[in-house]
Amino acid sequence: MGSLQVVSNRVVSNGKFASCPSRESWPLVPNEADKLLIEVNSSSICLDLLSSDVNSMPREITENCFQDFWKQNYPQHVQIYTDGSRSATGSVSAGLYLPSTNLATGWLLNPVHTILGAELFAILKAMQLAITDESLKDKPILILTDSRAALQILSSLSVCSYCSIIAQIHKLMQIKGLDRVMMCWVRGHSNIRGNEVADRIANLAHANDRSARSSLCFEEWLCLLKNKFLKYWSLWWSEEVQSSGKGTFRLGLGETVNYVDYGPLPRSVECAVARLRLGHAGVKAHLARFNLVNSGICPTCNTEDTIEHFILHCSLYINQRREFRSNLENLLLPWNLITALGGGDIPQKRRTAVIHRLGQYLLKCSMMNTR
Ligand SMILES: [Zn+2]
Repeated sequence: MGSLQVVSNRVVSNGKFASCPSRESWPLVPNEADKLLIEVNSSSICLDLLSSDVNSMPREITENCFQDFWKQNYPQHVQIYTDGSRSATGSVSAGLYLPSTNLATGWLLNPVHTILGAELFAILKAMQLAITDESLKDKPILILTDSRAALQILSSLSVCSYCSIIAQIHKLMQIKGLDRVMMCWVRGHSNIRGNEVADRIANLAHANDRSARSSLCFEEWLCLLKNKFLKYWSLWWSEEVQSSGKGTFRLGLGETVNYVDYGPLPRSVECAVARLRLGHAGVKAHLARFNLVNSGICPTCNTEDTIEHFILHCSLYINQRREFRSNLENLLLPWNLITALGGGDIPQKRRTAVIHRLGQYLLKCSMMNTR
């Protein structure tokens, strides 16, 4: 990073809930929203470069085209790049980078902050810098973030979420002058150097050891409450499963088979798929537990007729399974029970596709009338 001057901070929450300012005390009046120079969709600002496959271009070309655009259209604006980050271990951080002075600052945040909260925190810090830094005081600034969500809520006065931090940012924008602050979305990981440095600084900030203070937004407290309730409920549920013996199939699948958007499906298929995912399917092992059939053994294979047996092994459905399996392989997915039930660490769109293939498998195996 050459002569990059890196400043590290650790931000701890003061434990206080940052109350939402009322509409009357909001820094901007409604018609001022039109004056906010916040560009969420870069297409309208003719950054076609960023909507094409920039990763296939040489880095220098991407960076030069990008900088040429800004220098030609906004020669006076000083760029500040911001980014938020969440690590695999749940640590949350934010970073900003000011290329004109080679200043980079990273903050380690309270892990309760959401990634959106971290992105907004970085923008708030950029605004504070724009007002206090001597080199920026008299100049218009351009804040570049890869968070569309952050820009969307900043550009709308009607959206009432994260309002405590949004109000602070709006206030600083007003102090700086609404016509002197421009915010723009930049696609992350697109070979734009400033964005890459901000990303790197935010990542490095996970290891920071300095402290500062911040308050959590209402939404972040809600998120914390939701996670705590979910954790408590999951613990209670797994204890119940172990003591009652009911729900062991679902428990065995663990967290990997979780919410998936089913997309448009006939109601009957939707129910059959949901029952299968919960373990309430009409396979004999399940029916036998409720005395609905005499035996839980598959008469064709002479082995226990479980959901796993039905999906992966039963020789009665070899042809149907071959199609189901090749459908999954066409989606570049592994063939196993978790994936076949629409679970696993797989993008939502492909999981929805799996659910549809699973529905087809159930239909073709005539397993719709499950109880
Ligand atoms: Zn069988």
